Amino acid sequence: MDIILLGPPGAGKGTQAGRLEDEHGMVQLSTGDMLRAAVKAGTEVGLKAKALMDAGELVPDEVVSGIIGDKLDELGPDQGVIFDGYPRTAAQAASLDEILAERNRVLSYVIELAVDEDALVERITGRFTCGKCGAGYHDTFKQPAVAGVCDVCGSTEFKRRPDDNEETVRTRMQEYRAKTAPILPIYEARGIVRKVDGMGSMAEVNDAIEAVLSL
Ligand code: ADP
Ligand code: ADP
Ligand code: ZN
Repeated sequence: MDIILLGPPGAGKGTQAGRLEDEHGMVQLSTGDMLRAAVKAGTEVGLKAKALMDAGELVPDEVVSGIIGDKLDELGPDQGVIFDGYPRTAAQAASLDEILAERNRVLSYVIELAVDEDALVERITGRFTCGKCGAGYHDTFKQPAVAGVCDVCGSTEFKRRPDDNEETVRTRMQEYRAKTAPILPIYEARGIVRKVDGMGSMAEVNDAIEAVLSL
């Protein structure tokens, strides 16, 4: 089963994708994570993406669609995936249709994470992750059980994203409203959109997604 998690920055896509990976063996394909890895490695893609990401603007469609296709080819045909942060434009949605069709894959659901915009700035400015294993945390909503120590791997190094500041978040939200929200009707017309309330606790949102997926 392949699904898309769709929602504005900070809606909880990465958090929920991580749970589906851990509990149901699905694989998370996050274009944001892939681009950050490319920036860190200093690849050609990374060099193209860095300034745009720092400004909160979208990276060109061909760049992200290319890396998504490559990643899918590394997986077996029966491995279910969660698209997290992709597609983000109508052009990317069209590319995804081709990418999936070429590989005989079917998109089962688009989970729309519905959130109040006011909550997003707080979610994003409080976000941090483990520098070693990537586990996600929040200053207020999800602190490590032992302060300063990752619950998952025990590392004491954490990091924050340079684009997780209030000003860049505003630009990212505008990009979402202008370019990403308008792709929902494409999937609504196919009858595969399921709206989930993203304002509950992480566990509640997880339960609601599992109910949709009958997991
Ligand atoms: P996205 O991938 O959509 O940008 P994240 O999953 O990274 O969002 O979540 C953004 C921040 O909000 C993280 O710090 C995460 O721990 C926190 N968070 C995620 N889901 C919830 C929730 N349901 N309630 C409170 N905080 C949440
Ligand atoms: P968010 O927490 O906002 O969901 P992501 O990690 O998904 O953040 O994306 C971070 C940045 O990476 C975006 O602001 C954008 O610059 C770039 N990016 C990620 N995915 C895409 C995509 N599908 N298309 C274009 N740009 C992308
Ligand atoms: Zn860790």
